[in-house]
Amino acid sequence: MTGLDDIARIGADPRRGGYSRHGYDRAELELRTWFTEEAGRRGLGVECDRNGNLWAWWGPPGEGAVVTGSHLDSVPGGGAFDGPLGVVSSLQALDLLQAKGFVPGKPMAVVVFAEEEGGRFGLACLGSRLVTGAITPAAALRLSDPDGVTLAEAMRSAGLDPALVGPDVEVLRRIGVFVELHVEQGRGLIDLGAPVGVASSILAHGRWRVSVTGEGNHAGATLMVDRRDPMIAAAQVVLAARRAATGVEGARATVGRLVPNPGGTNVIPSSVDLWLDARAEDDARTRAVVESVAEAARAAAADEGCEVTITEESYGDTVVFDPALRDKVSTVLGGVPALPTGAGHDAGILAAHVPTAMLFVRNPTGVSHAPEEFAEAADCSAGVVALASALEALAR
Ligand SMILES: [Zn+2]
Repeated sequence: MTGLDDIARIGADPRRGGYSRHGYDRAELELRTWFTEEAGRRGLGVECDRNGNLWAWWGPPGEGAVVTGSHLDSVPGGGAFDGPLGVVSSLQALDLLQAKGFVPGKPMAVVVFAEEEGGRFGLACLGSRLVTGAITPAAALRLSDPDGVTLAEAMRSAGLDPALVGPDVEVLRRIGVFVELHVEQGRGLIDLGAPVGVASSILAHGRWRVSVTGEGNHAGATLMVDRRDPMIAAAQVVLAARRAATGVEGARATVGRLVPNPGGTNVIPSSVDLWLDARAEDDARTRAVVESVAEAARAAAADEGCEVTITEESYGDTVVFDPALRDKVSTVLGGVPALPTGAGHDAGILAAHVPTAMLFVRNPTGVSHAPEEFAEAADCSAGVVALASALEALAR
């Protein structure tokens, strides 16, 4: 797809495969420059809000705008479509509207939200959380990346003033409606035989940090009976996550990141941090999964003579997208199907404040957050046409 091809070299990750583009790193800054130039070529005026989100305005900025867009950052070793497909499609949808001489009756904008994946600072949807006040400025500025660089430092080196981050009612007032197009992160549209669909809901989901502390020691000189090895407890937490989620219908639990300290082959770690990602249909089921994992973690740590602490790093309850907007968009698109998703999005964060909707583009493998993530060119084009139709209907 043009647009995606233009940015294909930016942030490619030769070690993991796919792309590693994280908030305010070199790749993401390059993508922001690319976006600013692309928007400029179309006569859109680009501004950056206090929380690092980019806004490209068709005409003068104003309240009650029809806003589309997505994000440009990725998970570590992510695919080419998650995020950038929505941004590229938004620009191309405006191209279609401009080419046919459409004159919007409302302000229109394309937004690029900052650090949506949380791939660098650990908290997903950081840009939209800051705007909506879903995280306090103090808590956000304390976040740091794996190299110890804080969000404040990263923003400063990107030319932004971290002292200004925080809830932004002016920005929120400008959003009359937000429509985010995204590659589907599952097999829903394949099974339905449809290139494009609309989102009905997002699973309740959160991230928990599990820190197990034991006794660092020599891998050769320490007898097995003398060990207090936090990795043993951590391993049981991983297995408990699988067990807990399997026991709750529709639930998912993942440990995708585990960091032993100090991390030497011939060293019993002194501590292990791991992150539990848990999701389910509603709050009660999600909490049940996490409580079950927490219980197993406490038991495993006690067995090994270790200490464990569990910290909730983020949580979002089930999001049901605005039914009236969803139905309107679906009708404009000739009755495309509505389907739920297990993936979080900025549209989900904004949904508590403004009507939001999402369009999904079919993903032939269903794989996402991995280099194999894909969408056929024809389906991407169908997505652009669908997005343009939806925006036109909303901005008339
Ligand atoms: Zn995404």
